[in-house]
Amino acid sequence: MLFHELNISEAVSKAIHDMGFIEPSPIQKEAIPLLLDGHNVFGQAQTGTGKTAAFGIPMVEKIEDKRTTQGLVLVPTRELAIQVSGELQRIAQYKKWMVILPIYGGQSIERQIRSLSRGIHIVVGTPGRVLDHIARGTLHLDKVSFCTLDEADVMLDMGFIDDVREILSRIPPSAQKALFSATLSPQIKALIQDFVDNPRFVTI
Ligand code: AMP
Repeated sequence: MLFHELNISEAVSKAIHDMGFIEPSPIQKEAIPLLLDGHNVFGQAQTGTGKTAAFGIPMVEKIEDKRTTQGLVLVPTRELAIQVSGELQRIAQYKKWMVILPIYGGQSIERQIRSLSRGIHIVVGTPGRVLDHIARGTLHLDKVSFCTLDEADVMLDMGFIDDVREILSRIPPSAQKALFSATLSPQIKALIQDFVDNPRFVTI
């Protein structure tokens, strides 16, 4: 199977080609069509399986040219925020209007506030810093239509469960959700139960 069989736009296909991806990975083959169709997805996958593009391609396809935060990706660490944001930027390279920003603790909040005020389509952030911006009124999640939890098990292991739940309660219930985790622990199951309607399970 090739990427163009997955019904993706010319702009994104060209970007994927530039990135050197020829064939979708197993998780991409399963998750991309489900997400493009609007389903919520729980993906049980380790790093290195191509899970970033599995949610990143549909997310970039669905974001519209309106300067509101429509995409939110929650990640456990600053390194992952930078890495995921970079991969989304590469996927979106031919959608020149799209702005993607990593926000994480340890970086100047003023700088992030200035960037956020310009209008960001996709925010990739760590839970504590995302909540900080919500509390300051510098990040609004009422227009989020696609939310991904990446490495959800790691976020919970790091003690972010209350922050993650707080953030999820602030996005519209109708927002599409993708949750990736290496394990399906009771805590993850409870999170899905409370926030992810009718998820399709993708395991590799
Ligand atoms: P991830 O699991 O998302 O961290 O991805 C692991 C690595 O594989 C990253 O460097 C990706 O850019 C790369 N990658 C993801 N999908 C593909 C693909 N379909 N073909 C080749 N490389 C890929």
